[in-house]
Formats: sequence, C-alpha cells, structure tokens
Amino acid sequence: MSDIKLENKPDGFEGPGFFATSLDQIVGLARKNSLWPLPFATSCCGIEFMATMASTYDLARFGTERISFSPRQADVLLVMGTIAKKMGPILRQVYEQMAEPKWVIAVGACASSGGIFDTYSVLQGIDRILPVDVYVPGCPPRPEQILDGILRLQDLVHNEPLRRRNSPEYKALLAKYEIE
Ligand code: SF4
Repeated sequence: MSDIKLENKPDGFEGPGFFATSLDQIVGLARKNSLWPLPFATSCCGIEFMATMASTYDLARFGTERISFSPRQADVLLVMGTIAKKMGPILRQVYEQMAEPKWVIAVGACASSGGIFDTYSVLQGIDRILPVDVYVPGCPPRPEQILDGILRLQDLVHNEPLRRRNSPEYKALLAKYEIE
C-alpha cells in the first residue's frame, strides 16, 4: 500500500464526466508543485540546504528537486548565508535576471536580518535590496524549517492571482526597490 499523499484538487464544480475550476487555481497548482530554486549560498546555512536536498529530508518530495544555477531557469531565489554589502549588487543582479513570476526566501538569520553580524560590512537583511516573500528563522535553521519555508511559499504561490504581477501594488513594491 502506498502512503503517497496526492495533491488535493482545486475548488470547482464537478459532475458526471466534468470538472470546472478557474484558470488561477490550475496555474497556481502547477506553479506550486514545480518550483525551480536557485540556491544563493554564501555560508553555513547553505550546508543546511544541502542536507535538505539529500535523501533524509528529500526536497524533491515537493516538486522542487530541479535546482538551477542559472537565474533564467529558476523561479525561487533561496538566499542562504551572510551577505556582505559588496555582494549586494551581485545578488540583486541575479534577482533581476530571473523571469517573472519569481519569489524569494531568506533562509536563516543572516539573510533575514544580518544575524549576529551587526557590522559595517554586512547587509542587515536582503530585504534592503530586494523583496522577500518568506523568512526562515534560525542560526542555522534546521532542514525541517527550510522545508516549512518551502511549504509556506507553496501556499503563497498557489493562492497568488494571475493578475498580481501586473497590479499597481506589485509595481509599487518593485518601484520601492527601484526595480523596473
Ligand atoms: S544564520 Fe547562522 S548558520 Fe546561517 S549563515 Fe548566518 S551565521 Fe551561518
């Protein structure tokens, strides 16, 4: 007997031989289960991510096993580690090279807030230079916490309206970061 949990079908209307739902729901379901992460790992939290990818925690269970090291073939930027201010423009360039729709997870205290490195040279959180969708706390976060961050992001992706990326609110968010 299999204990594989199948994805629930979206809300909709069904009858003999048909099922109807909205395009938003179908696209959200597909996007949610086929996220392509780009790991931007600079220090210790990156090692936790490696453990998350390995067989014990097996990130592939959530459809995210296709790791990309090209921003053009990724839709989730996972930032793991201390980001020095000098590295900020590079991180930002990677983000800008990703196509929409794209999402960002700040993994660990350093990426979220600078962590213990309250110094002149360290960026005090990547949300100073790009919008973040999910923050994973911890120094380092355990693989379970990284998995939880992925699941939280899946919820966001599943419920994101197709029009959000063209909305004035989203454009205002990007404008705040001076991203065109
Ligand atoms: S949050 Fe802690 S474990 Fe993660 S990169 Fe920073 S110092 Fe290392």
